[in-house]
Amino acid sequence: MNSLNKNIAKNLKELRKTADWSLDKAALQTGVSKAMLGQIEREESSPTVSTLWKIATGFRVPFSKLLEKTAKNPLNTLGEEGHWRSVGGLEVNSIFPYDPEIRCEFFILKLYPGYRHISPPHETGVVEHILVIEGTLEVLQNGAWIAISTGQGTRFAADTEHGYRNPTKQEVVFHNVIHYPAKDK
Ligand code: MN
Repeated sequence: MNSLNKNIAKNLKELRKTADWSLDKAALQTGVSKAMLGQIEREESSPTVSTLWKIATGFRVPFSKLLEKTAKNPLNTLGEEGHWRSVGGLEVNSIFPYDPEIRCEFFILKLYPGYRHISPPHETGVVEHILVIEGTLEVLQNGAWIAISTGQGTRFAADTEHGYRNPTKQEVVFHNVIHYPAKDK
């Protein structure tokens, strides 16, 4: 098992401990089975991006909280490549992990030809900013698929079902900046 799975296992255990949730409670809150959560914690499974999103949403934490070694994120640092998580045609690379000051996390994603990824709603008030670097991406927002080509972007409320798909024959590379709302309002 790789170091990414190790980070995920550690972070999940930490999240459960902080929330004081049993595996049963965590399964109920995330919609991920107790057996799968246990396997992830024991590093016996490489969870899919969809599963990781369910866990992050259930615990109400940013996605990168599950991937990262540390949450430390000072300004004036170079974003690093190297945390690609590839499952089902979608690769996710956390460039700047979640920063509690600006409440953002910054990803580069790659979607292979013919693949699509549907994301369950994030917590209320979450906004995604998509910028396409290479290729043409289709984004599902407000029930409609919208094509976005290289150099174009879209921003949408991500607290309803949304998704990304690549109907073309070339891989699509895009940035996603996810902004989380302030908690105490
Ligand atoms: Mn999303």
